[in-house]
This record gives sequence, structure tokens and C-alpha cells, in this order.
Amino acid sequence: MDRKAISDLRQRIFWLREDRKKLENSLFRPKKMIRASLVFLPNYCGKKDCRCKKGFPHGPYPYLSEKRKGKTRMTYVKKRTLNEVKLEAEEYARFQHQLARLSKLNEKIRSLFEQIRDLNCREVEEYRKVLTERKKNIPRQENEKGN
Ligand SMILES: [Zn+2]
Repeated sequence: MDRKAISDLRQRIFWLREDRKKLENSLFRPKKMIRASLVFLPNYCGKKDCRCKKGFPHGPYPYLSEKRKGKTRMTYVKKRTLNEVKLEAEEYARFQHQLARLSKLNEKIRSLFEQIRDLNCREVEEYRKVLTERKKNIPRQENEKGN
């Protein structure tokens, strides 16, 4: 067993757990969120002779873009609610980003634990070899006793 390697792995896990603690703390008390992202899209009214028909669309206007059952749904955002909705969408994005970081950290920590496992772990193949070696050695030992 490589003690230096295991000690290094423990150290790395220790620091990752510190990172994870900070990350988890940042998730404990989120502000209000809305499950969507805020996007700004041009609009084409469809009226004849309108400037949008000639390649100069209206807007851009704010929409909440959300995924529902694999489809994207757009909801127009009224101007007087724009600031509130913007903050909520930003908080949602932040939260999602931190959750993704948490998954990555957990994966890293898991993989380091797997390395510790592997450094402490022998294969059955090795055990089988030991058994065969013993079988080979037993008759000889008995012979030696006999002599
Ligand atoms: Zn138009």
C-alpha cells in the first residue's frame, strides 16, 4: 500500500470538502427565483407594409423562456414586472450553476475515494495466486519433514 499516495488523496479530499461546504452554504438561502431565463426577442407583427416586413423588427421585447416537457415556451414580460423577473431569473441561473458545480465536486470527491479504494484493494486473481502457491509448497514442506 502506498502511504504517501493515500495521504495525498486524503489531503485533496479535505480541500474539496471545504469547497463543497462553501458551495452548499451559498445554496442554503436563495432569493426568490423563477424557473426560466429572461431573453429578448424581436417581434414581427405581420401587418402589411410594416417596417418589420422589410427586415426591421419591433422590439426586442423581454420574454421568459422555460422548458416544459421538452418544449420551450415563451411568456411575454410586462415592463412593470421586468426588474423583479430579471432578478428572479438571475437567481435561478446562479442556483442552477452552483448545483452543477456541486455535482462536479461530488464527482471529483467520489473519484478520489475510488482511488483510495483501489490503493487498498486487491484482486481475487491475486488471492487465487496465493492459494496456488500454497498448494505447491505444502507437499515440499511435508517432504522436508519426512526427511
Ligand atoms: Zn410590424
